[in-house]
Amino acid sequence: METLGSFLAGRWQAGAAPTSTLHDPTTGEAIAETSTRGLDFGEALRHARDVGGPTLRAMTFAERGALLSAMASALHEHRDELLALSTRSGGNTRGDAKFDVDGCTGTMAWYAKLGSSLEGRFFGDGDLVPLSRNPRFIGAHVKVPRHGVAIHINAFNFPAWGFGEKAACALLAGMPVVTKPATSTAVLTHRMFRILTDSGVVPDGVLSLVCGSAGDMLQHVEAQDVLAFTGSADTGMFIRGLETVRRMGVRVNVEADSLNAAVLGPDLDPDSEGYQLFVREVLKDLTQKAGQKCTAIRRIFVPRESLEGVRDDLRRGYAGVRVGDPAVKGVQMGPVATASQLKDVREGVAALAAHGRFVHGDGGPGELVGATDEGYFVGPTLIEVSGIDEGGPVHDLEVFGPVQTIVPYDGSAEEAVRGVSRGQGGLVASVYTDDKRFAADVVMGLAPFHGRLHIGSSKIADHSTGPGTVLPQLIHGGPGRAGGGEELGGLRGLDFYMQRTAIQGLKPLVQRIVTP
Ligand code: NAP
Repeated sequence: METLGSFLAGRWQAGAAPTSTLHDPTTGEAIAETSTRGLDFGEALRHARDVGGPTLRAMTFAERGALLSAMASALHEHRDELLALSTRSGGNTRGDAKFDVDGCTGTMAWYAKLGSSLEGRFFGDGDLVPLSRNPRFIGAHVKVPRHGVAIHINAFNFPAWGFGEKAACALLAGMPVVTKPATSTAVLTHRMFRILTDSGVVPDGVLSLVCGSAGDMLQHVEAQDVLAFTGSADTGMFIRGLETVRRMGVRVNVEADSLNAAVLGPDLDPDSEGYQLFVREVLKDLTQKAGQKCTAIRRIFVPRESLEGVRDDLRRGYAGVRVGDPAVKGVQMGPVATASQLKDVREGVAALAAHGRFVHGDGGPGELVGATDEGYFVGPTLIEVSGIDEGGPVHDLEVFGPVQTIVPYDGSAEEAVRGVSRGQGGLVASVYTDDKRFAADVVMGLAPFHGRLHIGSSKIADHSTGPGTVLPQLIHGGPGRAGGGEELGGLRGLDFYMQRTAIQGLKPLVQRIVTP
């Protein structure tokens, strides 16, 4: 069994016993162990701040972009190995593994290209601003990299993309990174770091890895540090509330859970391309990564008059999903990632079903291909509730697996908005319609409650990436229960890692200083 080390203060280090054990979710077999016990997190954060920080700040955006490009290339060279490891350690089909691994390198490469188009080491921000009757006294704004370390704590479902998407923004902005994947699926991130450290492309102190518990790391944060967290709302709340984090005024970004919704408009008939797209994207979000996507559609709002047809179409789609060993060709959905995840999903299904009825599946494994129920399998499960106000926990409980609910509504935009927004803030919602008025009413009604809105219509049916795919061009994050965070969105993603500072003084001097 492999022992995973952490890469801290410029060297690989192993924690002391007792260790945590990591499992292959397809078989339950133990595949690795790790520990961070006894590791010096104070030294690790200092090394990143004192060694990695100055190196990055001395580089131009274009040079930082070139670093990201070299990292993406080094990882891409080992693509097949990484995909296989993603399958073994995370229960991912090859398609799911690509979604995570290529999502990581693709996002790095996208930010590398963005970096190559930028000048200087920091940003001027907006125009010069007159401040008095004397035109020689003016003000301006700049955005400069913060002098701390960017601590990234990630969820179990994206050990590659979670690392890559956060690191891309931080490194391009000029901050060194300490990344901590969830312990249960850290095998993949660990291997990626081995590749990066062996490749020699990353300067000392720029990237560090914590494999295992965060220990006392967050007791060592300082005022220039930033903390970006992705995971459950409970852990996010705990981290935000930590005394050191609050006392030091550490900037915190939280990406938490979300009850993402899809709304079928009343105008789409079953033969329309918009309707077919709706069915395809609902099914994709159920099966992709076995529903363990923060952006996956959980609640499906269907006009009452279309309910019977949608129920039949989805049931047919779910019935055709082949569940089993993700390494076996033809298998479309693997297991959930851990035994505790399996337990949570089963409990969540029971809580939802207590207020509705099963349309398909029941949270059990169902028929498996090439696997036994020693693995952590949940078959596609669809539960129908009788209305927006009669679904018990349907708007509150995120069941993080291949589980969706159907919620009938009266077909009006107003009712759709009322139902979806009961989720108290989400990462993404989608509306499927060819009716411009309906689309506009739902989108504008839902915009305050979401970070992203996806409009699926017949004319884009062949081009849609779906609501579940997070793209570097658009922001990711959402208000309320989704954590109130914001990541990516092109250059916007760098803001979190930079300080915006106003500078006032003599015009030619200020002008000279703020020109990057
Ligand atoms: P989690 O249990 O909250 O863990 C998330 C991360 O926090 C892990 O790395 C975990 O490390 C770490 N952690 C736990 N306790 C900590 C503490 N006291 N101090 C510092 N770090 C701590 O969440 P999860 O089960 O991995 O992820 C599932 C959840 O993430 C779902 O609710 C999903 O919706 C959400 N998610 C959101 C997004 C998004 O972008 N909004 C993306 C993916 C997932 P250990 O593993 O070592 O405990």
